[in-house]
Amino acid sequence: MTGIVDSAVGRAFALLDRSSVLSRRLMEVDRSTECLIPLKKDDGEILFLKGFRVQHNNARGPYKGGLRIHPSVNGPELEVLAKLMTWKCALLDLPFGGAKGGIRVDPSNFSRQERYRLATEYANRFFDVLGPGTDIPGPDINVDAAMMGWIATALSERCGSWTPDSASGKPPSLGGLDVREEATGLGAAKVVETVLRLNGETVHGMSCVIEGFGNVGQNLAQHLSEKGIKVVAIQDSRSGLLNTKGIDIEALIARKRQTHRVDHADLGETLSRERFDAIEADLFVPAALSDSVTSNRAETLKCRYVIEAANAPVTMEAENSLAKKGIGIVPDILVNAGGVTVSYFEWFLNRSGEGWSSDRLRQTLLDRMEETTRSVWETARKHRVTLRDAAYLSAVRKVSEAQSAKEEWSE
Ligand code: NAD
Repeated sequence: MTGIVDSAVGRAFALLDRSSVLSRRLMEVDRSTECLIPLKKDDGEILFLKGFRVQHNNARGPYKGGLRIHPSVNGPELEVLAKLMTWKCALLDLPFGGAKGGIRVDPSNFSRQERYRLATEYANRFFDVLGPGTDIPGPDINVDAAMMGWIATALSERCGSWTPDSASGKPPSLGGLDVREEATGLGAAKVVETVLRLNGETVHGMSCVIEGFGNVGQNLAQHLSEKGIKVVAIQDSRSGLLNTKGIDIEALIARKRQTHRVDHADLGETLSRERFDAIEADLFVPAALSDSVTSNRAETLKCRYVIEAANAPVTMEAENSLAKKGIGIVPDILVNAGGVTVSYFEWFLNRSGEGWSSDRLRQTLLDRMEETTRSVWETARKHRVTLRDAAYLSAVRKVSEAQSAKEEWSE
């Protein structure tokens, strides 16, 4: 996972012909903090959990990045995810740097009270390194709006005044935005549509398979379907579903909410993981975990594009295999940037006290995603590089300029 991000940064530095001191500086993270988080369970048992906050770079503004709660959370993975945030925010021209946080535990059976205590404890333990002008956490895997509201509340209580801009992804009643829920999927669908259109393709009637049917997978599936793209297969952690005529996404979202599964006989046929990989479709969308597309899987995929809705879903070896097969990759720092873009709107509105209508928020997001996609596509054409390299070229240039302006030795 480290490889794919740092090697793209390295190629951007080579193209930009910037100093190697600066390149070494930006390959490192600024600060990595680990805290023990005690969690009192409802039955009185006390768990001692590992909590992390990794801050990569803040040359362009306060650190910004999600908090994920998952048993696989570890420092090296969070470092890569923090770096991705720096490059993503720079690509979208958001005035933020990059960070990522995590708690190592499986929260799937936690009660609401346990989730409340976990969020509050995390905010208190990491209070010294968080804050609206320092580092602003948002939601990621297994973290919802309620938890982000509790984090903002705990941080505010510690500093003695209400600071809604200390966390994003909050419930609307605490200054969050309704549109945040669908933002990543909505933005990703706009990126897909724009790239395909610029490539001279007809979007309507294309087919697509999606791995991961959580926040991003569901919203993306819905918006792709609205554009006339047929979602023919969906795989999540427990089950898979195939329907070559196109899955009824709205019905599936409702059913998954009730059963936590995607295999429902009335909506299609059950699909094994092995068969899922071999399904022919125009688009393959990894929207679950990092490193899920390995070189072995890349060999079996039968698609024309891989749309990286998850963060770092394709390994470096898989990237090479996909390139050899002529499969285009639309990179994560572009595809899934809609989420942090709306988090920026939330932070900005919390600070200014302004209110924007949902229509204005959605349109501003869509315009920014389209504009950035067009610019990345044109850069790729101009320099004859991949979309990933074009995206990194823009992001690395902006962060380098800011870092050089701050530190005299960086030039
Ligand atoms: P989520 O927790 O809502 O959903 C994750 C989905 O992945 C679930 O459907 C789960 O069943 C599935 N999954 C887990 N392991 C799997 C496996 N081995 N095979 C197939 N499916 C599996 O998470 P999310 O918010 O949708 O995030 C998904 C990805 O998108 C992550 O990489 C996250 O970092 C990235 N991302 C999310 C956002 C956001 O706004 N939520 C923004 C940017 C990037």
